[in-house]
Amino acid sequence: MLPIIELIDKNGPISVAKFMEIALYHPTQGYYIKQNPLGINGDFITSPEISQLFGEIIGIYVINAWLNLGSPEKFNLIELGPGKGTLMLDLLRASKHVDAFNKGAQIHLVESNDYLKSVQQNTLKNFNVTWHRDLYSIQNDTPIIIIANEFFDCLPINQYIKVQNQWHERLIAFNNNEFYFTQSNTPYSIGTHHNAKEGDIVEICYPALEVIEHISKILKKFSGYALIIDYGYYYDPLNRSIYGDTFQAIRKHKYHSVFKNIGKTDLTAHVDFNNLKQTALENDMNVNGPFSQKQFLIDWGINIRSEMLKAKATSKEKHEINLALTRLTKEMGELFKVIEISSKQS
Ligand code: SAH
Repeated sequence: MLPIIELIDKNGPISVAKFMEIALYHPTQGYYIKQNPLGINGDFITSPEISQLFGEIIGIYVINAWLNLGSPEKFNLIELGPGKGTLMLDLLRASKHVDAFNKGAQIHLVESNDYLKSVQQNTLKNFNVTWHRDLYSIQNDTPIIIIANEFFDCLPINQYIKVQNQWHERLIAFNNNEFYFTQSNTPYSIGTHHNAKEGDIVEICYPALEVIEHISKILKKFSGYALIIDYGYYYDPLNRSIYGDTFQAIRKHKYHSVFKNIGKTDLTAHVDFNNLKQTALENDMNVNGPFSQKQFLIDWGINIRSEMLKAKATSKEKHEINLALTRLTKEMGELFKVIEISSKQS
């Protein structure tokens, strides 16, 4: 029997967060423990897998962050959820001529998936890399630069639904061989949402907020930058009028029921960038953004870099570079957002 069904049979309906946590991280059956999610034969393709341009631009950003930190002799370069290791490889190639940066970077990868860790070990075999299962186990004693592309959307969310003017937690039940949504009897207090209507849903990703709190704590202590890129939304908290369910499943590049093929399907939720931003601000950080991915990539020179690549390319390669540029800046360009969190430089 599926561990989720066992749990519901035993304890009754479970939260969306518990459902995601078991489906994604169960020690033997979790999606982010053993499946290969990425690439043509996987379930989805990410920006670094679309083109080297993405990791190279992040490389330019990271070198600049390192310069802003005063070119520290040693620093921790941390990536959360590195996938196949492609972004890190492209970033390191873009920075290979900056000797002091290369010598000083102590690379730490945070990865829950043993299969992907082995792919990363192969991709980055020429570099000195340390792996961790979570961010909390990294020992920091130098300035820090953190990057995370499509990491936060994996983290479990809780959902709350407005019923008769009160917020109730949205729960998942199982009966007659079928999963379905229900809600808690007791109401929850989740802050004011002036414009929410009956049936609207608010999502809160508590693990994401914990990660931001931890990042803020270590950046404050050792100084540094964190660059977070993900698909998500940003609403002015005082003026928000859109509330909805973003809990979704993707399998083999198509939307899929969240209740089917559990453990073999990617479950995600859109990232609430306002919540990340507010948490970082409350923890005494500087915050830049969120910007659209398009804006970020253009500001950091993706057009110039793609012209440089095209100058040496065959016509087929030129066509591919143009396609990649369109996907990164037009299609994913608006949906994806970028936020920079940094310590206050004294
Ligand atoms: N950044 C990569 C991969 C994105 S997919 C890219 O852009 O291509 C999400 C990545 O985060 C995968 O490597 C996945 O295994 C990892 N991951 C998901 N949840 C995690 C968690 N809680 N802790 C550590 N790694 C996690």
